[in-house]
Amino acid sequence: VDGSSAQKEAINGIAKEFEVSTENLRTIVKQFNEDMDKGLQRHGATVAMIPSYVQGRPTGKETGKYLALDLGGTNLRVCEVNLLGDSKVTIHQQKFVVSNELKTGEMRHLCDYIADCVDSFLTENGSDKLDNDLQLGFTFSFPVNQTAINRGTLMQWTKGFSCSGAVGKDVVIMLQDSFRRKNLNVHIAAIVNDTVGTLMANGYRDPKSHMGVILGTGTNAAYYETMDKIVKWDQAPTSTKEMAVNMEWGAFDNERRVIHLTTYDNKLDRESINPRLQTYEKLISGMYLGEITRNVLVSLIDRSLLFNGLSSPDLNKQWAFETAYMSTIESDATKDLSDTQHVLESILGLPMTTLVDRQMVKKVCEFVGVRAARVSAAGLAAVLSHSNLVEEGCTIAIDGSVFEFYPNFADNMMAGLKELFGEQIENKVKFALARDGSGLGAAVIAMMAHRAA
Ligand code: ADP
Repeated sequence: VDGSSAQKEAINGIAKEFEVSTENLRTIVKQFNEDMDKGLQRHGATVAMIPSYVQGRPTGKETGKYLALDLGGTNLRVCEVNLLGDSKVTIHQQKFVVSNELKTGEMRHLCDYIADCVDSFLTENGSDKLDNDLQLGFTFSFPVNQTAINRGTLMQWTKGFSCSGAVGKDVVIMLQDSFRRKNLNVHIAAIVNDTVGTLMANGYRDPKSHMGVILGTGTNAAYYETMDKIVKWDQAPTSTKEMAVNMEWGAFDNERRVIHLTTYDNKLDRESINPRLQTYEKLISGMYLGEITRNVLVSLIDRSLLFNGLSSPDLNKQWAFETAYMSTIESDATKDLSDTQHVLESILGLPMTTLVDRQMVKKVCEFVGVRAARVSAAGLAAVLSHSNLVEEGCTIAIDGSVFEFYPNFADNMMAGLKELFGEQIENKVKFALARDGSGLGAAVIAMMAHRAA
């Protein structure tokens, strides 16, 4: 950064605040490992370590037709997945709009609508409506208290849904009921968490897959655990040695023990709808990175070190600085940082910016983005060491726009792993972009549930 000595000093100070040293990483990993153990021992721990009831691993040799249903993203999605063996698949999918009226009405109406969508999908795409039941994997991206592979009560709605008559009820039973009333020969074989779906989708293609990670709007991860380590398991003995565990790792460090939080993080947290919760997620995921950056920029403005001390109405708005802007700014390789200028002046309405302003903004994005990737690496490292895979290596399947689009995110995560485990880790651990957890992944889980039943 060019600029005055006060500006340089401020940027250096911010760099220090966002720094996560190798030593810090080690401390975070150690705490992560302790929290994983706690979560495996008892119910209700900070890192919840929820058994998914998905037993064993796919081999990629499985064949057959399965349905997948995805509720909780932007659209309702219905897929027919044809497992061809040999790690190959074909997928037909159709998207359906869920109106606000349905999202906030009665649960029975929503279930009937979903049943209609599945029915119309099968009529249009239905290769052959089989005589026997079609098995369906249901990705339901809301907090669920699962009691079997296809049993789970809704704990609360999120993301703009608020249907009456659903909280505390088993969502699989309600939807299955709608299928039955409409004479649909579809059996809901599994309720699927997106992390476990990501793990299984990649597992079908790559037997070395050990972890499924989401780095999108939020963050979470799942991995294969051996049953003897799931001490709190109090259900019937399983037929396999392993089960996928949904870590719910976004809650890591809610007790504020190990990760240094800046004033910018604390402001974001205080103003969020869930203060003191999802601490780890707030440092990593797409929903928050832009807002942390905005907090830094506004504080630099308040100190008259940026934009000549002047903000814009847009930049003053909470959540106005999107994480996608950070990707644009960080990948800006123009000499005068004109892409950055576009974001600041055309999108955010700042009257004018100097090159030094733009250089400073780019630096701030880099600090926030690099920290996010390094802190993410700590979670990956915790699972690698917990599962004893540092020597042997494995594939980590990752879904989400932050991983897919944020510049250098993968490299910065790998750099963190190298500091912790040595250079050779790069030849052992592979990151794989896996965007089909709720399609292929859910279908694979339906297949595995049906096979185990
Ligand atoms: P979801 O996690 O909701 O299934 P995504 O994986 O697409 O969906 O993640 C959406 C999140 O990613 C949003 O919070 C958004 O801010 C962020 N995002 C979208 N585009 C980009 C981008 N180009 N670079 C970084 N983050 C992005």
